[in-house]
Amino acid sequence: MARYTGPVCRLCRREGAKLFLKGDRCYSVNCPFVKRQSAPGQHGARRKKLSEYGIQLREKQKVKRAYGMLEGQFRGYFKTASKVRGATGVTLLVLCERRLDNVVYRLGIGKSRAMARQIVMHGHITVNGKKVDIPSFRVNTGDVIAVKASSFKSPMMKAVMEAEARPMPKWLTFEPDQLKGTVVALPERDDIDLTVEEHNIVELYSK
Ligand code: SF4
Repeated sequence: MARYTGPVCRLCRREGAKLFLKGDRCYSVNCPFVKRQSAPGQHGARRKKLSEYGIQLREKQKVKRAYGMLEGQFRGYFKTASKVRGATGVTLLVLCERRLDNVVYRLGIGKSRAMARQIVMHGHITVNGKKVDIPSFRVNTGDVIAVKASSFKSPMMKAVMEAEARPMPKWLTFEPDQLKGTVVALPERDDIDLTVEEHNIVELYSK
């Protein structure tokens, strides 16, 4: 299935939660989800009560859309998570959170995960001094994520240096003047601000 390229605010309304897909606007009073939370479409406001399957599906879509993943890729994450000892749902979220495009977003280098993915794919990011242009690259404790020195002059990076800092999760540190961040620990469930009941995703994929 192709990547969704339509209006992203519709996705928040569809999933009934803020997915933070649009950068600064998501943190402002102009976020459309604050004004209108009904599902999109002519009959969105009259949506019926969801079945158990419907609830599970929506929770899965919420995470998949928030991290900008396609179905096959997300299912692959679930398979990996299910092989790890511990709560599969939490492991799944932690694996998503450790994606390089997400880390670039969390560090504030990208205003949204979509922008962060582009920054990575365009080769602006290094991990431990080596260029990495794969958005799904999985970071580890101690990894140093930085903007390539030659990319400092780009208007996009200048804007990042001048932008107001967003709250930093406790598993990351950031040096804004050097556009460099460090993974000081692996993320835990409490560090992931997505409102989701991950056990529903496990139940959906376990059928
Ligand atoms: Fe749009 Fe962001 Fe608000 Fe979602 S959270 S409705 S993407 S502005």
